[in-house]
Order: sequence, then C-alpha cells, then structure tokens
Amino acid sequence: MSFLPFTRPTIGEETIAGVADVLRSGWSTSGPQVNAFEAALSDYFGGRPVRAFNSGTATLEVALRLAGIGPGDEVITTPLTWVATANVILEVGATPVFADIDPATRNIDPARIEAALTPRTKALMPVDLAGLPADRDRLYTIATAHKLRVVEDAAQSLGASWHGKPIGSCGDFVSFSFHANKNLTTGEGGALVLPADVDPAYCERLRLQGVKRAADGGMDVDVLGGKWNLTDIAAAIGLGQLPRLAEFTARRRDLVRAYFEHIDPALGLTLPPRDFENSNLHMFQPLLPPGSDRGAFIAAMKERGIGVGVHYPALHLFSLYRKLGFKDGDFPHAEDVGRRIVTLPLFPAMADGDIDRVCAAIEEVLSH
Ligand SMILES: *Cc1c(COP(=O)(O)O)cnc(C)c1O
Repeated sequence: MSFLPFTRPTIGEETIAGVADVLRSGWSTSGPQVNAFEAALSDYFGGRPVRAFNSGTATLEVALRLAGIGPGDEVITTPLTWVATANVILEVGATPVFADIDPATRNIDPARIEAALTPRTKALMPVDLAGLPADRDRLYTIATAHKLRVVEDAAQSLGASWHGKPIGSCGDFVSFSFHANKNLTTGEGGALVLPADVDPAYCERLRLQGVKRAADGGMDVDVLGGKWNLTDIAAAIGLGQLPRLAEFTARRRDLVRAYFEHIDPALGLTLPPRDFENSNLHMFQPLLPPGSDRGAFIAAMKERGIGVGVHYPALHLFSLYRKLGFKDGDFPHAEDVGRRIVTLPLFPAMADGDIDRVCAAIEEVLSH
C-alpha cells in the first residue's frame, strides 16, 4: 500500500500547463501573472486591496511595519502557532506577549488578551489554528476599545468565514500563506489584504527594496524594503488553485465528517473543535491521551504507511524564546495541547477508504 502523507497539494493539469506557458513566455519574475492573481484575490475578498508576497512570513512582517510596529511596542499573540507568527514580531524589533489559548478552540483566549494588555500594547496578532477563525467579534471589540491594530495571521484560514463572509473580506490587516501545505498553494507565497488607511504603492515599495520608479526610467529609494516579491511562476499556480478553493474546502469537510464518524471514542483521543460552518478544515488534529508517547505513536503510524505531523509545540518553550525568559508553566493550555497534538492525513485528493485506513491504524497502535 502506498504511503499516505498528512497533506499533499492538488495541482491540476491545466495549472501545470499554465506554469509551462509562463516559463515559455520569457517572463518568470513578478509580472502579469502576479497582477492577475492579486486581482483575483481582491475579487474574492470583496474588492479589498491585496498584494502578493513570496511567503506568508514576509506578509506578516510587512503588515507589522505598515502598522508602524517597532522597538518598544508589544504585540499580543498566541503561543500555539507556527513560530513565524512570533518571529516576525522579533524581526521588527518589537516584543511578543503571549496570551494562552482557549482549549476548546485552541485559538487565543480573548479574556486572556485583556489581562495581557499594557500601555505598550500596539497590536493583536490572532491566528486561526487549523483554519478555525479566532473570534473576530471579541478581538475587534478589544482592539477598538484600546486603539490597537490587528494583524490577522490567517495563514491557515483561506476559504474560512466569519458570519458568512470570507476571512479576509473584513478586518484590519489580513495575512495569508500559500506554502505547499496550505489549503491553496503557490509552492511558496503569501498575500496581504490591506486596510483602507494604507497606500498599496507604499506596501509595494516595502516588498521590493523600497524602490520608487520614475516615469523617465529613473528611480529613487526612500525607505528600506525587502526582497519579498512573488514570481509569475508561483502566481500561475495560484491562479489555477483559486477557482478550486470551494471544491477543496467541501472535500475536506466530507473527509473530516468521516473522521468524526469513524474514530472510536473509547481510544481516549480528544477530538478537535467540531466546526463545519466557519472553518476551512485546514488540518484534522486530535490530541493523544494524556501521558502518551507521541514519538512512538508517529513512528508506529509511519510503519503502517501513514504520515502524522505535529502542528505545533508551544513556541515559547523553543530555546530562542526561553532565552527571552519564557518557561514551562507560563501557558499551560498551549503546553498541554502542544505536547499531545497530532495532525492526521487530510487533503482533497484523499479517498474515502483512506479515512478507514487511518482509523484502523490508530486503533491498532493505541490499543497496544
Ligand atoms: C504557514 C504559516 C505561516 C508562515 O507562512 P510561510 O508562507 O511558510 O512563510 C505563518 N503563520 C502560520 C500560522 C502559518 O501556518
């Protein structure tokens, strides 16, 4: 039986042909495909301005810079996320402040945000773990009351919604990733939805060396920018993926329903939040029973031809963050979930029978 990875992108033959066309065109860096991809994304987000980047990490860093966040400022985020979320706060010279998760949603707990506020707090960076949107109503109530910017790390939630509207169509800065594991991929890439008070031309300068081109062919550089532009090769993949996003999400929903039906409750797994309305079902992540040896579980599943991922250990316990003073016990809910969480196979091209195969393997492994 072939190996079943925990995720795999679905790239259609038309998309592959589109990429070949770009390669044959002689123009592979940012150009017409990027413009078309940005326009298609903007349409999807109800007309809001969107700029494409070469990673979701770059979009987050640029969003913080556009929001004017820097040394002396505190940004409140979750400790249960991909480390990029907190790394970009350090990258702009600001201070990450963590608020523990709500174990029911695994997203940042709004009540704990209130407790973490200080006069230096400048922004909130919520994350939609596994594609389940963090509570936008409560986040924006806090942000408005305390005059904070919000940089939504929606890297995992493209295709998810809040009150029936797509994530990205409302809010302040909204950042997406198109990494190979995300629900929509460009290989690597990202996109930033801009609020009305940000000039998209300024965002473009931060994206590419701060360069401002003049009509006569000359140029000026008036701000320090990075090297974060998306290629036309990547944008062509995105243009092939975007029209299929709803189909991908629907397929994920069916597969997740099957997981809920087939996992035996007697095995003692804690199942993920059950949301078929707002979430884009980016990952299906049960928690192993308390005290389980996760490494042994992953190895035993691998022996049975099944890939299992870990997304994520609580990031404040990484060495870099321990050096900043964080320690065991600081955020007990994130630590508990971070120790027990496993990502089971979930991607649109999975067959129904794959769910049975995964569930049978889990049963075999856990009942030994
Ligand atoms: C994937 C991801 C990122 C970073 O995106 P890249 O495209 O890999 O740079 C940031 N935050 C979260 C929550 C992610 O899942």
